[in-house]
Amino acid sequence: MDRSLDRAKLLAARYKAAEARPYLASALYALTVVPSDGVRTMGVDRHWRCYVSPAFVDATPVVELAGVWIHEVAHLLRDHHGRAERLPAEDQGDHVRVNIAQDCEINDDLLADGLVLPDGRMEPRLYGLPAGGLFETYLPGIPPTPHGPDCGSGAHGTPTPWELGGAGGPARVGPVEAEALRRQTAQAVRAHMRSRGRVPEGWARWADELLEPSVDWREALAGAVREAAAWAAGAVDYTYRRPSRRTPALGGRVVLPSLRRPLPRVAVVVDTSGSMGPEDLAAALAEVTGVLREVGVGGNRVAVLACDADVHVVTRVRSVGEVALAGGGGTDMRVGIEAALALPDRPNVVVVLTDGHTPWPDETPSCRLIAALIGQAPPAPPPWVETVRVDSGGHGPG
Ligand SMILES: [Zn+2]
Repeated sequence: MDRSLDRAKLLAARYKAAEARPYLASALYALTVVPSDGVRTMGVDRHWRCYVSPAFVDATPVVELAGVWIHEVAHLLRDHHGRAERLPAEDQGDHVRVNIAQDCEINDDLLADGLVLPDGRMEPRLYGLPAGGLFETYLPGIPPTPHGPDCGSGAHGTPTPWELGGAGGPARVGPVEAEALRRQTAQAVRAHMRSRGRVPEGWARWADELLEPSVDWREALAGAVREAAAWAAGAVDYTYRRPSRRTPALGGRVVLPSLRRPLPRVAVVVDTSGSMGPEDLAAALAEVTGVLREVGVGGNRVAVLACDADVHVVTRVRSVGEVALAGGGGTDMRVGIEAALALPDRPNVVVVLTDGHTPWPDETPSCRLIAALIGQAPPAPPPWVETVRVDSGGHGPG
């Protein structure tokens, strides 16, 4: 059977894939080729064996085979079989739909990345689903289908007749080695981003999630805002420093205490010149204002400032809809923070929504400062800034 497989062509395609996406090279070369007449195109098992149809290799151009190599290794890097096992039993059993959803998760990223795939591939748009999702979120949108792609138990988790099974056979990658390959690849993705710029959003997010599993950013941001609001309310609670308006009538010698527990004032400074997506920004702003309303801080106690350092304009807006994202580089959130602290109703808490590519004040300003960092691999602010990383792109399950 092996004689009929055009290994030279298949391995040339793997070389091409590794050359085009060098951060995937280790994973691609960890796959062991198993020729098979049973598999329709290519498929993988959980031991990183890649089953290949000789007829498919003959019929498919090298550039498309390179895309399929990346597709197959993506099933394993994204731990599709492990995640499939955490699905509810009735979904797990329907491995055709699971495979379609998984292919949707992979292929939209590959196509956006300029890779070429054979005709008949699955894509979220074929099912009216948005790009950029995880297969678990796609699954409910995939209708029952008798036939579909079969990328093997390394994808959907259900062993297929053309697989070799656990025992024997050619070299196998064990679960520990597989996890090491995932981490190594995630670090290679990060290194590639640092040295040569962009990698597809899907791979960047996957690497982030693998290397720093996120707590839910909504919870983290809500917690930080709630805590800062409580702190600010407490800090001005017993104050003789807060003069009554009647003080001047008494000659300025007696300072009356404020009788009512004041609510904190909060300024939200929005970076309009970064690389943030409008949805991420809207989600972060909605979360901040939602929490503030919940703790009774609303209305004119919250100021939203849009800050674009290029034009040194700080505008006060009422909603995220009024924030015009300018795009492009160059931002200085210090301008926005200063403007917030110069407001007539000076805030106790300043929340900055930014992509992080900004200088920060040299020292702690006289207020609580929270940075919500939005976007891909934002640089870290100084340690005295409370920092929450916002990634509304979803979270890896498990
Ligand atoms: Zn697949």
